[in-house]
Amino acid sequence: MENNPIQLIDQYDRHLNYLRISVTDRCNLRCLYCIPPEGIDKLTHGDILTYEEILRLARIAVDLGVDKIRLTGGEPLVRKGIAEFIPRLTALSGLKEVSLTTNGIYLKDHLEGLRSAGIKRINISLDTLHRERYEKITGYDGFQEVCEGIRLARKLKFSPIKINVVVIKGINDDEILDFAKLTLKKPYHIRFIEYMPIGVASKENILRHVPDSLIKKQLGDLGKLIPVSKNALDGPAERFRYQDAPGEVGLISALSNHFCATCNRLRLTPTGSLRACLLSDQEIDLRGPMRRGASDNELAQIFLRAALTKPHSHYLASENSILPTGHMSAIGG
Ligand code: SAM
Repeated sequence: MENNPIQLIDQYDRHLNYLRISVTDRCNLRCLYCIPPEGIDKLTHGDILTYEEILRLARIAVDLGVDKIRLTGGEPLVRKGIAEFIPRLTALSGLKEVSLTTNGIYLKDHLEGLRSAGIKRINISLDTLHRERYEKITGYDGFQEVCEGIRLARKLKFSPIKINVVVIKGINDDEILDFAKLTLKKPYHIRFIEYMPIGVASKENILRHVPDSLIKKQLGDLGKLIPVSKNALDGPAERFRYQDAPGEVGLISALSNHFCATCNRLRLTPTGSLRACLLSDQEIDLRGPMRRGASDNELAQIFLRAALTKPHSHYLASENSILPTGHMSAIGG
């Protein structure tokens, strides 16, 4: 609520107006860089926040100036009741935008509902354009389902439709130009995401990291990269368009070219902890106080405290970096 003089501002004067809510740790895929082959201990029903609890916390966050919420996970569309929850979330007054990050497997069944709930922006994770490779990366033969979801999203006029591609050396770094070529004919926004050393993908796999300079160089081989200017609700991607192309390419580089100085994010984990930086393990619990009867005002104070824990920047790029220990699927990617 803009009228509320108390806003989520951190020690470095960043206004934290963007809350990413992970509604579940569960996922229907087993991406090799995200979930270890032996799996992850699943949270119990009682561990994760109920939809009522999420709505209450979202309302408190909106009162503190959050105007943009993204639902993520795990896979948000696998949680039972998500279709009924989303319109209740989008109905919160003061929110300018609610968006969703999904692997796209169940997307086509949800698109009509998402559209009527007022969601226009969706991010779909897709790391390859080859069916067999998709199965190798994700452990599931779901390439066609994701493609159908993307096509239907376009038909239903979702915009922008962002396709998140985590670029991994030796796995899919030979597909950068194929993804980029899609933008010459279709209005997709392809986001090349730098592989981050988190969870399964931690230090020993750092060799799989492809720096954004290399990705950009390859993109430049397809044509002149015309910079696209950003608006207030845009994320951290460095964006480009090819001449006359309906789509865009973008680079999200948490390591090579980190965007900490302008990071406006807070994360709410499925267990109700606030995490001010994806790449730092520091979290503050809201669930305990909430279940013990804390008032809205007391919970708002916890939000404000969490904002103050936001580090100036993460230290992953340095030699002696401390790697985060959590898994992306449990934190909320
Ligand atoms: N299930 C949803 C999805 O697939 O989009 C949301 C959760 S998923 C954890 C969110 C994003 O995090 C996906 O695009 C995934 O590729 C990305 N991700 C997971 N591990 C990553 C890593 N080590 N480095 C970079 N991105 C990663």
